[in-house]
Amino acid sequence: MAKKDRKELVIIGAGPGGYAAAFHAADLGIKVTLIDPEVNPGGVCLYRGCIPSKALLHLAKTKEEAMQASKWGMKFEEPKIDIKKVASWKEKVVKKLTEGLGQLSKARNIEYIQGKAKFTGKNELEVTDNKGKTSGLSFEKVIIATGSSAVGLPELEIDHEKIWDATDALELKEIPKKMLVVGGGYIGLELGSVYAALGTKVSIAEMTPGFLPGADRDLVKVFEKSEAFKNVFFETKVEKVKITKKGVKVSLKGKKEEQTKKFDCVLVAVGRKPNTQNLGLEKLGIAANENGFLEVDDRRRTKLEHVFAIGDITGEPMLAHKASHEGRIAAEVIAGKKGAAYDPKVIPAIVFTNPELAWCGLTEEEAKEKNKNVKVVKFPWSASGRAVAIGENTGLTKLLIDKETEVILGGAVAGKNAGSLIPEIALAIEMGSTASDLSLTIHPHPTLSETIMESAELFYGGATHYKKS
Ligand code: NAD
Repeated sequence: MAKKDRKELVIIGAGPGGYAAAFHAADLGIKVTLIDPEVNPGGVCLYRGCIPSKALLHLAKTKEEAMQASKWGMKFEEPKIDIKKVASWKEKVVKKLTEGLGQLSKARNIEYIQGKAKFTGKNELEVTDNKGKTSGLSFEKVIIATGSSAVGLPELEIDHEKIWDATDALELKEIPKKMLVVGGGYIGLELGSVYAALGTKVSIAEMTPGFLPGADRDLVKVFEKSEAFKNVFFETKVEKVKITKKGVKVSLKGKKEEQTKKFDCVLVAVGRKPNTQNLGLEKLGIAANENGFLEVDDRRRTKLEHVFAIGDITGEPMLAHKASHEGRIAAEVIAGKKGAAYDPKVIPAIVFTNPELAWCGLTEEEAKEKNKNVKVVKFPWSASGRAVAIGENTGLTKLLIDKETEVILGGAVAGKNAGSLIPEIALAIEMGSTASDLSLTIHPHPTLSETIMESAELFYGGATHYKKS
């Protein structure tokens, strides 16, 4: 082992949590060492998650829009998919962005070490590079940002051939004729939509009675109207699996019946688990809780003064934007910035399907459970000029507003660009805005953003373009 070299701040993991922490810490004058197995920062999000999937979902949306245009008098032929070209375009997107992060890291004089880190003591770790060579270093402070990885199922072991995880699906090695997606959550719906657009007959088996457990049903209904999938099996679990030469034989156990179906491949998307294993945490002197997460305070500090943790390893929701925010807070705490604390009122969630589904703050389900005195106002997009002009009549915008104080407590949008609309509601909640703040803000016409203003108008009895019959 090489001579140990003491670092001011080491960050383990260069995903959206780790690199955001590293960049901010460096900007605040801290000498940063960032460790990750990839050649550049980016993590799962950029290499095998958010970014490649969004590139492919863009393609799916382009196809769907082109096909829809025949209703409006513009007919396109069924597109021909050149899967190799699609894969190479997706790779180019990933390369451009990860190399960009590499340059941003260099520009900040961050020491970037390619390899896997494992603690060997309270202030020491060793890094194993991709060739298996190890070197040691010591540190004053550390931020652990090692993210999460896909959960498998005992009856469905990922073999990367016929039983895929999201990474396999994003590799685009082939376009299967028939695919089963197990899990109707974020990944199942997003990647299922991608393959459906590429021409695969996609079926989904979801354990609960509907897609996206945790999201309000009226939002999910908007997505269901798009009928993206060939078959949907709710309240269904995979019982037995037989891998054959031609594909996979799966027996699906529903509430009432069990049926056997054949697919070319199965994509397993049943959740993610925090990467707190094989880190040598015992040498550091901390342990993960019973769910595998590291517990932290509102400064993202573990029970050890010099050890911080951010992102997926600190708990749900496992979202890149939550990780980045935590990273910046941890950097500020380490830099000694007074008052720095992780205290978001809301963390927006977005499912980038077509239509997109987005929500933040209190959901209707939660409002009922918690007996909240809220008024729920819903503005249907069939009443929005812009939505109708772009063929998005099924969309929906809603707000949950405290009946007494008129403060916005939650909101949701289902429809095109819902993900770009939800931050307005998130900002309103963060700022403690009332319904009148939203209704009195002049929103440009004709835009989908008006649906938020008009939802707020509904709280006071009537919106210009919608009257409940
Ligand atoms: P998820 O938690 O979103 O969905 C998993 C789904 O699988 C759930 O609906 C669950 O009921 C179902 N399920 C669990 N066990 C099952 C079984 N045995 N049979 C059938 N269904 C089963 O998980 P995911 O889709 O794997 O995504 C993981 C995480 O990644 C998400 O929680 C999210 O935080 C993150 N993610 C976010 C985005 C985004 O922000 N757009 C996109 C992809 C992933």
